[in-house]
Amino acid sequence: MLKLFNTLSRKKETFKPINKGDVGIYSCGPTVYWYQHIGNLRTYIFSDVLKRVLIFDGFKVKHVMNVTDVGHLTSDADEGEDKMEKAAKKEGKSAEEIANHYWTVFREDFGKLNISEPNVWCKATEHIKEQVALIKKLIEKGYTYETEDGIYFDTSKLKNYGKLARLKQEGLEAGARTEMRDKKNKTDFALWKFSEGEKRQQEWEAFGKMGFPGWHIECSAMSMKYLGSSIDIHTGGIDHIPIHHTNEIAQSEAATGKKFVNYWMHGAFLTFKGEKVSKSKGGLYTISELEELGFKPMDYRYFCLTAHYRTQLDFTLDNLKNAQNSYERLKNIVSELKYDKKENKKYLSEFQKAIDNDLNMPKALGVLWKLVRDEKAEGKLATIEKMDSVFGLKLLEREEVEIPSEIKKIADERELARKKKDFKKSDLLRDELRNKGWIVDDAGEGYRLKRGK
Ligand code: AMP
Ligand code: ZN
Repeated sequence: MLKLFNTLSRKKETFKPINKGDVGIYSCGPTVYWYQHIGNLRTYIFSDVLKRVLIFDGFKVKHVMNVTDVGHLTSDADEGEDKMEKAAKKEGKSAEEIANHYWTVFREDFGKLNISEPNVWCKATEHIKEQVALIKKLIEKGYTYETEDGIYFDTSKLKNYGKLARLKQEGLEAGARTEMRDKKNKTDFALWKFSEGEKRQQEWEAFGKMGFPGWHIECSAMSMKYLGSSIDIHTGGIDHIPIHHTNEIAQSEAATGKKFVNYWMHGAFLTFKGEKVSKSKGGLYTISELEELGFKPMDYRYFCLTAHYRTQLDFTLDNLKNAQNSYERLKNIVSELKYDKKENKKYLSEFQKAIDNDLNMPKALGVLWKLVRDEKAEGKLATIEKMDSVFGLKLLEREEVEIPSEIKKIADERELARKKKDFKKSDLLRDELRNKGWIVDDAGEGYRLKRGK
């Protein structure tokens, strides 16, 4: 029985989809104005693991992810510049070019990290019609008001606004979340903003003026379009709880009168020296930057799996190095295994218990390590293959390692010594290889080289 922690109830709940056997997941996707850093990517590894666990448990999954290419202002609320417009101006490109470039890099990172792509990618700018229609519905139902700069959602009209974040409207400090301008309540938020100031690249005519959608409305409109008015699971990082997801619930439930999402799931932050990764504090690496430092994307995936998704994970290059060592060791051990018989039921059921307990991946990794170290266990390889459908660590994939010519020369020399039965020399050369980080195995007529000490 799969149990998932629901942010709405702050409890682990038994997972029951709306339609038996089918699961709809909506994940808030990237704002494509810059590269996604490894912190962002931790959140997408989490939703990927969620999806893989559901598939492991026999569910059919439809996964939808949006691409925010308009309307996300530099604050998560309604102030500041539009991140896309700002980046376009800075880079001297069109907003569309910027969006396509960073979205492409993002998808490349998905490939590198073995994150399976969603079934539907949806861009905010390609769903203006749906967003405008949803706002019209909210206007008709009397949930909105217009100010000089936009159309706002009146949060005082909704009972339970803030239930996800357990916000108390009156408890919010004035101006702490957002500038008031002409807003009636501190928590009110823009559904549609009118174009002001400099001419925008991205603007559409609606409600009698040129303007653009607020950030939150895209997720409500697109999730309804692709998954219906009530969805099973919605994911994102914890920073989305107080504003973005709170507002998604408000506008969706006001429009449909139905419960928007049954299970809200949020991933904790990747931190750097205990603080959120950021430009000023550090830790803002991209996957490509880690590669330049000699890491493989899979080292980072392994690193993420060592922590539960609801626990903060502290990133340092040393921590990543430790993960890299463990991952390489694991792959080496797996590469030695041969298929014997079918899956090992005992280990698989222990594994399933871990993943079904709110995706306890550190525990599941523990089960995997116990299995590889258990000399008596049968069916190791088939079991690991099955487990890896959830880990997504490509444990059975053999990489073509390039052997440097210097190493090959030593290994050839050793092979010759061995053939001449000069075992003293061959042992010395074996040690030399080991010191250089290579292990040589005799294999019938020749030898095999692999990385390791
Ligand atoms: P954004 O492109 O800013 O909308 O962020 C994309 C996703 O990354 C969102 O789900 C955020 O909640 C998440 N996120 C942002 N920073 C971090 C972090 N340091 N660790 C984990 N997730 C993060
Ligand atoms: Zn969203």
